[in-house]
Amino acid sequence: MSSYDPNNVFARILRGELPCRKVYEDEWALAFHDINPQAPVHVLVIPKGPYVSMVDFAARATDAEIAGFFRAVGKTASLLGLDAEGYRFLANCGANAHQEVPHFHVHVFGGRKLGRMLPRAEG
Ligand code: AMP
Repeated sequence: MSSYDPNNVFARILRGELPCRKVYEDEWALAFHDINPQAPVHVLVIPKGPYVSMVDFAARATDAEIAGFFRAVGKTASLLGLDAEGYRFLANCGANAHQEVPHFHVHVFGGRKLGRMLPRAEG
């Protein structure tokens, strides 16, 4: 795993250097609309601490950070009105998952039927 790059785009959003369309924020997390939505609702939830991936987050974050972050994911889905119809959350970690931004984040998708969990392998 590579070390955390403090100049990644989500770190810059957290520092207020880049704008975002905020959905929710608390002590532990920030949720904002994805700039290139893949569903009618596509929101990203990021922890405020400097973590690259789920492995990094699980290893180094405090229990309070982990609880606060996953509560924020749930609050975000609730605020977006997704609970009744259903939604998906996922986290891409590393090269095989095509992670583009090296700051741990969860995608929250909703607003339409989302199909099966994974597309066919690209080969
Ligand atoms: P991932 O492949 O899981 O790392 O996804 C990164 C996501 O971040 C992609 O869905 C991008 O569209 C999204 N993204 C990149 N830059 C921004 C930005 N400035 N504001 C909002 N979303 C962004």
